[in-house]
Amino acid sequence: RAQQLGGNQYEFYNPSLTAHAIADLNLETSLRYALERSEFLVYYQPQVELKTGKIAGAEALVRWQHPEKGLVSPGKFIPLAEEIGLIVPIGQWVLETACSQIQQWQARGLFEGRLAINLSIRQFNQPDLVPKLAEILETTGLEPSTLEIEVTESLLVQNIDNTIAKLKAIKALGMTIALDDFGTGYSSLSYLQQFPFDILKIDRCFVRNLPEDRKNAAIATAILQMAHGLNLKVVAEGVETYQELLFLYGQECDTLQGYLFSPPIATSEFETLLRTGKKLKLPETDDYLPSY
Ligand code: C2E
Ligand code: MG
Ligand code: MG
Ligand code: MG
Repeated sequence: RAQQLGGNQYEFYNPSLTAHAIADLNLETSLRYALERSEFLVYYQPQVELKTGKIAGAEALVRWQHPEKGLVSPGKFIPLAEEIGLIVPIGQWVLETACSQIQQWQARGLFEGRLAINLSIRQFNQPDLVPKLAEILETTGLEPSTLEIEVTESLLVQNIDNTIAKLKAIKALGMTIALDDFGTGYSSLSYLQQFPFDILKIDRCFVRNLPEDRKNAAIATAILQMAHGLNLKVVAEGVETYQELLFLYGQECDTLQGYLFSPPIATSEFETLLRTGKKLKLPETDDYLPSY
């Protein structure tokens, strides 16, 4: 019997069985291995300046290249990674990978804009977050203003004083702070003036079907006016149609991000985009009809 057990143990480590065993592992276990197996990728989605139609930056969006499942989107594993704390090393990897890539593109004169990085609440609450951010600037030599940190409204419901102090420390490094998915969380509008944000990202649920969706049109218009009144720049997320672009252009939205210009794309594709100097086709004066 002991022999049998030993046999089983031997089998467990037998490389020919490893692939088999992995197939049976659940998401959590394979997620735990993904980092050391280099299965993550950073995709980049361009952000376009609406005044000029030029690429003004990129958001780094992680992907998981799963050996069997193929490309897994972050919506399928970030929540779990957050729950079990793996988001911290994954997030650090994304930060390092994207920063060194952007630094290379800058050094080759291909890229001038900003790099936006998403931070989950768990990453934000790491005691060494600010030193880690300072360290990445040091190791890559990136200008601090190149980095934009995206946080969500979930931050705003925890200890306010600590959160404000930390956001201020990040800003003191010279980075920009964006509030992601604006309008979908619990925050009250008064937070907008208390917290040191530079940018509001209108969630894509409010961009959908502009301007035919009258409720979205009212919300988007109100967000833009309020944000500009508070001296914040506005990024519209999830812009898919020319009609949406027209409306946002008319409302003087600052920046656009969405499939209309480009989905998130792999490093080599993004480099091609930079090389071709692709610009967003801006509305002609005749195109623009005020919707009110
Ligand atoms: P997010 O930060 O709000 O990112 C924008 C999401 O909208 C991306 O989904 C992007 O692919 C999608 N999107 C952009 N334009 C369009 C469009 O025109 N139409 C539609 N339907 N979707 C569009 P993605 O890449 O699946 O990421 C989902 C979320 O996962 C992100 O939402 C972010 O919250 C999280 N995430 C992604 N990468 C990271 C990361 O490195 N760290 C952390 N903490 N979270 C991340
Ligand atoms: Mg984001
Ligand atoms: Mg968002
Ligand atoms: Mg989101």
